[in-house]
Amino acid sequence: MNPSPLEQVRDERLGGVRLALKRDDLIDPEITGNKWRKLKHNLARARTGTLLTFGGAYSGHIRAVAAAGRRYGFATIGVIRGEEHLPLNPSLAYARGCGMRLTYLDRTAYRAKHTPEVAARLHAAFGDFDLIPEGGSNAAAVLGCAELPAEIADDFDVICCPVGTGGTLAGIAAGLPPGRRALGFAVLKGAGFLAEEVARLQREAYGTVSGNWALDLDFHFGGYARVPPELSAFAGDFEARHGLAVERIYVAKMLYGVYALAASGAFAPGTRVVAVVTGGPAVPVPP
Ligand SMILES: *Cc1c(COP(=O)(O)O)cnc(C)c1O
Repeated sequence: MNPSPLEQVRDERLGGVRLALKRDDLIDPEITGNKWRKLKHNLARARTGTLLTFGGAYSGHIRAVAAAGRRYGFATIGVIRGEEHLPLNPSLAYARGCGMRLTYLDRTAYRAKHTPEVAARLHAAFGDFDLIPEGGSNAAAVLGCAELPAEIADDFDVICCPVGTGGTLAGIAAGLPPGRRALGFAVLKGAGFLAEEVARLQREAYGTVSGNWALDLDFHFGGYARVPPELSAFAGDFEARHGLAVERIYVAKMLYGVYALAASGAFAPGTRVVAVVTGGPAVPVPP
């Protein structure tokens, strides 16, 4: 797939901070944004022809694995947190429509999903498979995301991305040239553990931790998938003024954070910021 475009945002509300958007939402209509970057090397390394992964009932990662399986000829199994609800919601209906086999784990078992016991149960039920962890974050995913900075021809100081599991931030930071830094905006509440997770992912991929990144924990807006009126107003306004459809769960929180840091002076005027639009808002239409 081609490098995603870089688009300048002209906005007096940024008070002299220069913002550009890295439009990873345009990478592919189905395997969007960071999900493609994270899957790319996982697909190349797969041994078995079957991919098994984990996610919530609205997981974009589940949809991306399902779409990638259909396109590249892998059988796919989605292990979904919680109980089955029929009819399937649009996200799971899409995954099913791509040919993904869906199975469910209750919340207790789901919490233990990455233990050898649960893996053994899944192997007993489904045979051989390549396991991709929840959210797709592993060493191969980090390597894929590390390819992003080299696509940016313009000079910049800081690159920003939203953070769910941390794989995207771990990779982007690892791929930065000297003198630049990466700033991740956590979309979960109480996400202090994420710093250790980003470090762990970098260690897994490279054996070392790069010192060029930080996490901002202040823009979770109440927690994962919470979109209070203030955030929705900001996102709606950004859409109206800049013509970008803003994905609410991740991208809106990052952009809000970027504007807030520009307003507070935490980004000094003249700072060149690249914000990675890690995905778009829509659930694709079922095939
Ligand atoms: C999945 C997702 C993320 C989270 O990426 P992590 O690597 O898990 O931190 C960020 N943005 C969008 C749009 C996503 O769909």
